[in-house]
Amino acid sequence: MDFELNDNQRAMRDALRQFLTRECPIEYVRECDEQERFPVELFDKLAKQGWLGLPISEEYGGTGGSCTDIAVFLEEFAWHFEAGANCYYTSVIIAADAIAHFGTEEQKKTLLPKIARGEIRFAFSLSEPNSGSDAASLKTRAVLEGNEWVINGQKMFCSCAQVADYILLMARSDVDAPKHDGITMFLLDPKTPGVEIRRLKKLGLKPMDLNEIFLTDVRIPKDSLIGEVNRGWRNVLKTLDYERCCLSAVNVGAAQSCLDKSLTYTKERQQFGQRIADFQLTRAKLADMEMEIDAARLLLYRSANLVDRHIPNNKQSAIANLASSETYMRAALNGMRMMGGWGYLMEFDMQRHYRDAKLAEIGGGTSEILRIVISREMLR
Ligand SMILES: Cc1cc2nc3c(=O)[nH]c(=O)nc-3n(C[C@H](O)[C@H](O)[C@H](O)COP(=O)(O)OP(=O)(O)OC[C@H]3O[C@@H](n4cnc5c(N)ncnc54)[C@H](O)[C@@H]3O)c2cc1C
Repeated sequence: MDFELNDNQRAMRDALRQFLTRECPIEYVRECDEQERFPVELFDKLAKQGWLGLPISEEYGGTGGSCTDIAVFLEEFAWHFEAGANCYYTSVIIAADAIAHFGTEEQKKTLLPKIARGEIRFAFSLSEPNSGSDAASLKTRAVLEGNEWVINGQKMFCSCAQVADYILLMARSDVDAPKHDGITMFLLDPKTPGVEIRRLKKLGLKPMDLNEIFLTDVRIPKDSLIGEVNRGWRNVLKTLDYERCCLSAVNVGAAQSCLDKSLTYTKERQQFGQRIADFQLTRAKLADMEMEIDAARLLLYRSANLVDRHIPNNKQSAIANLASSETYMRAALNGMRMMGGWGYLMEFDMQRHYRDAKLAEIGGGTSEILRIVISREMLR
């Protein structure tokens, strides 16, 4: 059993660390958070350095990173800038993965190199006002009329739609089929007449815009879809383990960032004539954070390793996602506790983690849903 990253992965992580230390200083992270804007400049630089091509195979202009490589990348990215890593996952990885697995050769040739060069961005729209955890009960309707699909309905919680050139839109194309069948993944240009995108205000992850989308008689060409008609839900399921690894990597990197900030602070802050790091109760918190992050990281890389070996790991990836998201939430909470009133101030970074961490327990399946997935596998 080998728990070490290989030489290439270590070199990649070190190069990314140097790049982000230079191009993504904490002042930039704060600016994007305060101004609630997508880190466009950083993504342009990531594209120039070839980092946007990591999840895309060499054949289509990328560097063909494995799931483990991508986990290393996202963990490091999230340590510096969690919302940036989430933007990367949403606007690059989800679409690159879906197109690579289910797109036509023509779509792969035209879209994947553009993603790698940073010329196009994506959003993914599954959730609706009345279908969240029960996502397959979605109601947005797509009807084929001649050579066009006509789409009507409302989507909820679509990240990155403000900056997306395309939205991967899940809609019901067959109302008579069982709910998990009859769903198709459409490729929607958000500028199409009848599409209205409204930005929602939210607690954290401010650089990643969140939207509701209204679709009124939206007409798109018959072939504007990824994968087969009525097979969209299977697309989502097939890539779920990989996507849970990506989210876990973001959580682990961000949790480590909370711990490192807590260590720095508790070594500097003095009360009762000594460093607060020397109080036993502080040390217990630091030790718990270290233990939980270490465990979450091992679960993440076990799962990534299984994905790379094409071994089904529904349970393991759900465990990694659950452990890492709850670890991140607790790390942010403990970080806030250790900083006392200072953590509550906007000029310190822990409050941002505290706001951002909550999404980790919601997106990609809530903690309750992940527990259902794990226990279902256990009771099979
Ligand atoms: C910031 C943000 C970004 C997002 N980005 C996207 C995106 O880009 N694309 C997209 O499609 N979606 C996105 N989502 C939506 C996200 O995936 C959903 O919020 C999530 O799946 C939960 O759905 P819901 O909010 O409707 O909650 P609900 O499903 O209504 O759940 C409410 C509560 O009930 C619990 N619950 C539900 N079912 C069960 C059950 N069977 N057993 C026990 N408890 C249960 C849940 O765990 C939760 O605690 C985003 C959400 C947020 C907040």
